[in-house]
Amino acid sequence: MKQGKLLYAGKAKSVYRTDKKETLIVEFRDDITAFDGGKKDTLKNKGSYNAGVSAFFFGYLEKHGVKTHYRQMLDERRMAVRTLSMIPLEVIVRNVAAGSIVRNYPFREGTKLNPPVIVIDFKDDSRHDPMLNDDLIVALELATPAELKKIKKISLEINRLLSALLAKQGILLVDFKIEFGRQGKTIRLGDEISMDSMRLWDKKTKESLDKDVYRFNKGDVMATYNRVSRRIMTGTALPAAMKKKPAAVQKKGTVSSGKSTKPKTKKR
Ligand code: C5P
Repeated sequence: MKQGKLLYAGKAKSVYRTDKKETLIVEFRDDITAFDGGKKDTLKNKGSYNAGVSAFFFGYLEKHGVKTHYRQMLDERRMAVRTLSMIPLEVIVRNVAAGSIVRNYPFREGTKLNPPVIVIDFKDDSRHDPMLNDDLIVALELATPAELKKIKKISLEINRLLSALLAKQGILLVDFKIEFGRQGKTIRLGDEISMDSMRLWDKKTKESLDKDVYRFNKGDVMATYNRVSRRIMTGTALPAAMKKKPAAVQKKGTVSSGKSTKPKTKKR
C-alpha cells in the first residue's frame, strides 16, 4: 500500500490518503498537548506507545464484536485504517469522577459512577468542544436519534470490555474518550484509544498511569507510558520502541515549559 497526501494533521496524529480509497494511514506522532494546546511537548517514541496500545485495544474489541476502523499496523507508529466519515462527537464514558466533571460539577474526585456516565462533547476546537445533549445532537444533525442510541450502546460495551481487561492488570479505567465514524450505514469506532485519551489509575495506589502525568507534572511521562503499556499488553509481543527503556528527559519542550498547568477553560 502506498502512502499518499496528508489529509489532516491533528494535535498528535496525522492522517494520510493511500492508493486505496477505502484505506487511510494514521501516523501517531511524538507530540503531546494538553489544555486546548496550551501545553505542548514532543516526547521521543510517544507515538509508538500510543499506536501500539491503540492497535492492541482495537484488536481486542474487534475480537469481542465491536466494529472499529483498525486494519493493521504498518510499522511502529503507522496504522492502516478503514476510511470513515467521522462524526464530530467526543464520547466520554466515566466510571469514576475525575477531571472536568469534578471541576464543573459537585462531584468529589474518586467517587464511583455506577451506572457509568456518558458525556458527549461537540468536537470543535474553535468553540472549545462544548458539551452537547441529545436534542442538540439531533438538531445540529450530527447524528440521528437511532445513531445516537447505537453510539451510546457501543460506548457502554467498549467500557465493559476495557474495564474488565484492565482490571486483570490491576488498572482502574476511570474514564476515556472515543470517536465514531460512518462506513456506509455502519457505525465504527475510529480515532485512538490510548494513554492520551483515557484516565487509568493503579487500583491499589490510585497513581495516574495516563496523560494526567503530563498535564499536571506528576512525574516522568514516558516512564509511565512504558510501564502502563507493558501492563496493558501483558502476554503480547511488544514493538521494538516499546521494549527500550525511555529516556528520562523530555525532548524539545515548546511553549509550555514553566507555564502554569492549571486549565484556563474546562479543557483537557
Ligand atoms: O478532561 P476530561 O475530564 O473531560 O476528560 C475525560 C477523558 O476524556 C479523559 O480520559 C481525557 O483524557 C479524555 N479526553 C480526550 N480528548 C479530549 C477530551 C477528553 O482524550 N479532547
